[in-house]
Amino acid sequence: MKIALLPGDGIGPEVVAAARRVLDALALPGLVLFEGDVGMAAYRRHGHPLPAETLEMARAADAVLFGAVGDPEGDNLPREHRPEAAILGLRAELGLFANLRPAAGWPGLEHLSPLRPELARGIDLLVVRELNGDVYFGAKGERTNAAGEREGWDSMSYCESEVRRIAHTAFAAAGKRRGRVTSVDKANVLETSRIWRETVVEVARDYPDIRLDHLYVDNAAMQMVRAPGQFDVILTGNLFGDILSDQASAVVGSIGLLPSASLGERTTGHGTFGLYEPIHGSAPDIAGHGKANPLAAILSLAMLLRHSLGREADAGRIERAVAKTLGDGVLGADLGGTASTEQIAAAVVSNL
Ligand code: ATP
Ligand code: MG
Repeated sequence: MKIALLPGDGIGPEVVAAARRVLDALALPGLVLFEGDVGMAAYRRHGHPLPAETLEMARAADAVLFGAVGDPEGDNLPREHRPEAAILGLRAELGLFANLRPAAGWPGLEHLSPLRPELARGIDLLVVRELNGDVYFGAKGERTNAAGEREGWDSMSYCESEVRRIAHTAFAAAGKRRGRVTSVDKANVLETSRIWRETVVEVARDYPDIRLDHLYVDNAAMQMVRAPGQFDVILTGNLFGDILSDQASAVVGSIGLLPSASLGERTTGHGTFGLYEPIHGSAPDIAGHGKANPLAAILSLAMLLRHSLGREADAGRIERAVAKTLGDGVLGADLGGTASTEQIAAAVVSNL
């Protein structure tokens, strides 16, 4: 089992080091760790945010644990040299097509949510977002229209095989959760959504135990605020998923707690190859102060063990240790507490 650690910029190295302490404490037999440069850290050392050796390291691993990329200095660089180009490059080069973002309210932390506590308490959902298609990757451009104005255009497309593989990911995930998939589209307006919906219905036949329903994206956004407890797995495309996954994080309210997985097609022998990262960014405003909350990175590690290494029991151990840490009131500044990155990591390790 090989894991590539890519800490990156800002608080990335701090939270990845914390996750590594948890990983070390599990003492998994036969585990080999590699560490690579990515983002602005890589640009400074190698002149590129995603050096070839980092990409090779990621390819050779069973899973990647990624911190964050982004740096105020990066904004002045040409687009292909900006630190953010590294994560886009990794997604494309590694064929990561499925983005999984769980969002759940933690007991005792309902006050972080902008929703009423009784609504916040009920949130336990997983957004499964398609990551390789849609309007982001279609033909686009700028032209001068008949009236002589500049006009931009982007084309949206989905083919059946793209929908099919992400639908399988969502149904399989629902089978391990509460057995419900809500597919989100705009089938009343978009051709892509009509193909999407028909293909999802077809895939659903392979999963007779999963309950499938459909929502238009506008209604889904409204339901996420009015009654988020109704959702188990939300299956959606790249654009709608971008928006809905951020909305799901916002209704939970704790950016420092939320992990993510981006899965590829390759199997590892124990699961699926994937890249795992906290949903938060490099947070340059707090970098180097030792006060970043490492729990999103630690929970990303749990997802890595579950999906790429087939170590469900270890993933569960980490998640229970995190729940105990929060329950004991070991809270970072982002959650209204005073615990440092180190203290939070140490508490998780001792709760393992
Ligand atoms: P990037 O451009 O890399 O996305 P950002 O600053 O735009 O960085 P985030 O890194 O997501 O966005 O941070 C948003 C806010 O949340 C910042 O004020 C940051 O300090 C805070 N924050 C983010 N992650 C954490 C964390 N793990 N612990 C504590 N605070 C955090
Ligand atoms: Mg940001």
